[in-house]
Amino acid sequence: KLFNEIQELKGNIRVYCRVRPFLPGQREKKSIVERVGENDLVVANPAKQGKDALRTFKFNKVYGPTATQVEVYSDIQPFIQSVLDGFNVCIFAYGQTGSGKTYTMSGPNGASKETYGVNYRALNDLFSISESRKSSIVCEIGVQIIEIYNEQVRDLLSSNGTQKKYPFYYVLLFFNLSRYFYMKYLIIFMTLDFLDLHTLGILNNSQHKGLAVPDANLVPVKSTSDVMDLMNTGLKNRASSATAMNERSSRSHSVVTIHVQGTDVKSGSSLQGNLHLVDLAGSERVDRSEVTGDRLKEAQHINKSLAALGDVIFALSQKSPHIPYRNSKLTQLLQSSLGGQAKTLMFVQINPDVNSGSESLSTLKFAERVS
Ligand code: ADP
Ligand code: MG
Repeated sequence: KLFNEIQELKGNIRVYCRVRPFLPGQREKKSIVERVGENDLVVANPAKQGKDALRTFKFNKVYGPTATQVEVYSDIQPFIQSVLDGFNVCIFAYGQTGSGKTYTMSGPNGASKETYGVNYRALNDLFSISESRKSSIVCEIGVQIIEIYNEQVRDLLSSNGTQKKYPFYYVLLFFNLSRYFYMKYLIIFMTLDFLDLHTLGILNNSQHKGLAVPDANLVPVKSTSDVMDLMNTGLKNRASSATAMNERSSRSHSVVTIHVQGTDVKSGSSLQGNLHLVDLAGSERVDRSEVTGDRLKEAQHINKSLAALGDVIFALSQKSPHIPYRNSKLTQLLQSSLGGQAKTLMFVQINPDVNSGSESLSTLKFAERVS
């Protein structure tokens, strides 16, 4: 039965809604959520009165504030398993900043066994399933972690890669000392490399293991502790830019790609599956009259890429012959995991606070359009 269910999911887009609880220590606030059903959510628009205020949104599944990480994961486990069968799977978290996207995907700061998010649980499962069938299929699992910020792609696991180039730079510097003209360029190049500011190219339908960003490090992982190390490196690299650029993490998309290659021991034939776990930039609208410069540019890039994602998913749900993948880096990168044989799941995250009411409503309307 499970198998049929998975087959059914193929090529389909599922939308799950998760309402986060009010945080401990916060004074109990008014909630916009009136009722949480299994497949629907009733919210009260704070801008309206009485019966007119109530609206029902339907989803494939709805999780209320008391839903645990374990419960949420148990529903998406079949998706994860299908990666080992050679499917591409994409799981997103969409919502305004503070609505619980990172909580769902990674867990809270200093997560424990109970509170780990989807990405840790998914990897753990991939290890244990591949371990259980290793007598017939040998699996290699690799991880990429990248960030898209202002339509530029950055490798969050690249620290090893850049260090290796230093001996090469010293040689170049030595030979260039007398030629100021070239040295200028070399120093600029080294600085860029040091700051890791190159942007990586995206190749669609890449021959390289089906990875859209073949130049980003693909780090092999063998155990859960390898994975924890990697996630920490990724987080640290993301955080270092966050201090420099003020909470950049909420304004960039982070994409963890888990690449699985399984080889049949007897026949030697192999298959590949990619799992993309995406913590999207905050979807909150920025008041154009209040921001300028970099902040405005960031906001425009975020709006553009989230709109492009919405358009792609909408076109897929309409079975449109033309899917507009090329309108943003995010959709280009995820092309092989959106549509076709791929399975897509979107978590729509809601902060129940009445003060976030209008943002929550626009999040729900975005979800309504694509589901
Ligand atoms: P986002 O990534 O969307 O900005 P976070 O995941 O950082 O939001 O969540 C904001 C705060 O709410 C964090 O302190 C987080 O730990 C907490 N939080 C979010 N979802 C839940 C949940 N389901 N249960 C408990 N705490 C949560
Ligand atoms: Mg976050």
